Amino acid sequence: MTAQIIDGKGFAAEVRQKVAGHVTRLREEHGLTPGLAVVLVGEDPASQVYVRAKGKATVEAGMESFEHRLDADTPEADLLALVEKLNKDPAVHGILVQLPLPEHIDSDLVINAIDPDKDVDGFHILNVGRLGTGQKSMVPCTPLGCLMMLRHHHGTLSGKEAVVIGRSNIVGKPMAHLLLGDSCTVTIAHSRTQDLPGVVRRADIVVAAVGRPGMVQGDWIKPGATVIDVGINRIEAPERGTNEDGSVKTRLVGDVDFDSAKDVAGAITPVPGGVGPMTIACLLANTVTACARANRLPEPEGLTA
Ligand code: NDP
Repeated sequence: MTAQIIDGKGFAAEVRQKVAGHVTRLREEHGLTPGLAVVLVGEDPASQVYVRAKGKATVEAGMESFEHRLDADTPEADLLALVEKLNKDPAVHGILVQLPLPEHIDSDLVINAIDPDKDVDGFHILNVGRLGTGQKSMVPCTPLGCLMMLRHHHGTLSGKEAVVIGRSNIVGKPMAHLLLGDSCTVTIAHSRTQDLPGVVRRADIVVAAVGRPGMVQGDWIKPGATVIDVGINRIEAPERGTNEDGSVKTRLVGDVDFDSAKDVAGAITPVPGGVGPMTIACLLANTVTACARANRLPEPEGLTA
């Protein structure tokens, strides 16, 4: 069998188009423009790339983007004061504080200072609790993107056996709650799981969020299963030659050994071009949802969990 490749890039483009449509309707019918504030503390190069990409995507979707760049030595109290100001700003419907924060700042304190209804990353403890108890919440973007792709591919997920590998607060745990919410039978595997291949082999749906290049092998996968590869790992790629400074070129790979898995799975997301593009699309989706909720308008269809 050769797996169907789930085109995350194409699907993310569809989601972004849908978001843009909702933004137009909010503006034309209600005079509202959804606004997303992104706060970056320090100069971490990867964070700078993410923040730029998020701002660009926000503007492309017709929304307002508010960028706040603070020095790496910004006192925690100043960051908390900015969050409080954004909480009160009616033009801001979503607030994202880019992680990781510098060590002198308590990330949990900052995240939990965000108005939960503006917490478009879905990391606030209230949103975690709401998701865990099946209440309406803001859902973390990466698992939301995975859920959207799975629903799009399968229609209903009810009754399916799902294995999530990884139990992080950002991906693994919220993913498991979302799959449970869609009536899957869910197993969460982690570094202490015994016989991981045997556990994965039970699954109709495998979500790998581990951070280990190519760990999940084709012979772990039940024939016909759907495999969602969240992993983003940069590895050396000598076949691509060397850079000007003599270092070996690199490439991105997932947590799944794509070459062996694609011959067994029914469907699989590639890396890159799978889950990655869905994360920013879902950030935009969450912002438009937050704007609709703040104004007691119907939720945008197909953009929430
Ligand atoms: P974390 O490091 O926070 O969590 C990794 C999880 O994998 C842990 O629960 C850990 O178990 C588990 N794990 C580690 N080694 C093994 C093993 N040998 N067998 C089974 N489980 C193992 O990572 P994240 O959840 O933040 O991210 C996971 C991956 O997803 C990374 O590659 C990251 O780059 C990527 N990612 C991609 C995003 C996207 O937009 N596509 C967004 C966010 C993350 P334990 O708890 O026992 O230590």
